[in-house]
Amino acid sequence: MDTLFNRAKKRIPGGVNSPVRAFRSVGGEPFITERAEGCHLYTTEGQKLTDFVGTWGPAILGHNNPEIRAAVNGALEKGTSFGTPNPYEVTMAELICEAVPSIEKVRMVNSGTEATMSCIRLARGFTQREKIIKFEGCYHGHHDSLLVKAGSGALTFGNPDSAGVTEGTARDTVVLPYNDLDALKNAFEQNSEEIAAIILEPIPANMGLVMPEGNYLKNLVEIAHNFSALVIFDEVMSGFRVALGGVQEWAGITPDLTALGKIIGGGLPVGAFGGRAEIMDLLAPDGPVYQAGTLSGNPLALAAGITAVNTLQNESPYAKLDEMTQMIVDCLSEAFSAKGIAVQLPQIGSMFSIFFADSAVRNFEDVMASERHRFSPFFSEALKKGIFFPPSAFETCFVSTAHTQDVVEQTCDTLSRVIQSL
Ligand SMILES: *Cc1c(COP(=O)(O)O)cnc(C)c1O
Repeated sequence: MDTLFNRAKKRIPGGVNSPVRAFRSVGGEPFITERAEGCHLYTTEGQKLTDFVGTWGPAILGHNNPEIRAAVNGALEKGTSFGTPNPYEVTMAELICEAVPSIEKVRMVNSGTEATMSCIRLARGFTQREKIIKFEGCYHGHHDSLLVKAGSGALTFGNPDSAGVTEGTARDTVVLPYNDLDALKNAFEQNSEEIAAIILEPIPANMGLVMPEGNYLKNLVEIAHNFSALVIFDEVMSGFRVALGGVQEWAGITPDLTALGKIIGGGLPVGAFGGRAEIMDLLAPDGPVYQAGTLSGNPLALAAGITAVNTLQNESPYAKLDEMTQMIVDCLSEAFSAKGIAVQLPQIGSMFSIFFADSAVRNFEDVMASERHRFSPFFSEALKKGIFFPPSAFETCFVSTAHTQDVVEQTCDTLSRVIQSL
């Protein structure tokens, strides 16, 4: 049958423009969304879904937010791209520097991938070193140096995590377990003058949600700085989500560089990276580290992003988001426990995830040891009942300001029945 998705599969690899959308880990075919409004997606098949994916992080103010839409419409009247400096860029840079404590200067890009890629190049240029430390299970976008997984000698070199990534590139990336300071110290001792930077999701949210233990983040920064390496916080997901100033504000920690994306685009393609002026000033045209972008600082995208950030600043919805999310987590916890299924439900603010495990999940190894096969039946039943969770056991769920108390109560009701029926 010539369904829309069949047509997609003929002309788009896997039928999707980003792999997780293909539903491969939960089975079946993805639905196709026609429009989105508030906390709902409306499919081409006429189904209305309560959405906990939030376009994978950006939609903290709900879909098709009226203020953002008005801002984009306003900007549209003036033209879609200028190729010269524009006023939106200045406003956005000031907003970001004000909100994110460690950022003195910032440059706009078009995706989170570009942001982390540029941070890595800049860290290498600044330190004149080549190796990077990353953590297993952290995702930083799809560029070569970070698509690397742990090798057999996990403390030494990484292995390519994708065909097409060269071993040479992987050799410059050291992959370590998260929440393990001894592994980190060892890696620095073995590569002492060679590590340019550590890059991490300070609260990893791309293997499900994993919380840093105790003083892990603080100690990590200390160790890196003792070895004159930089610390790059990839706050593409957590920035403006965990708090306005991201995890660094929440934890009171100052990284050297920060990558941003998702929320700061208000639903349009935007990324940014920034940090200490001393480091950022190495970028072209002032310095020797090249970085550029034809559509970077795009007026439509920044009109959306500025409005998103302004709204978050003015309305400070974080306590309310936390409360709504807590309600969902509580009802999941109760329902799974009544069913006798062991779950871990890590939550911070408007992010939470579900691990089928009977003790806390501290790192990627624990994630892989969890009973992942339990996720897909839960996902499918929830979807049938109109609730859309991320179509993978490794993703984090997002709550938005459009998830009202009513919606949350209905969701809890439905989820309890879904879990009961498993
Ligand atoms: C989504 C994400 C990225 C990649 O951003 P894109 O805009 O998809 O390129 C990088 N880092 C983290 C932590 C992310 O969640």
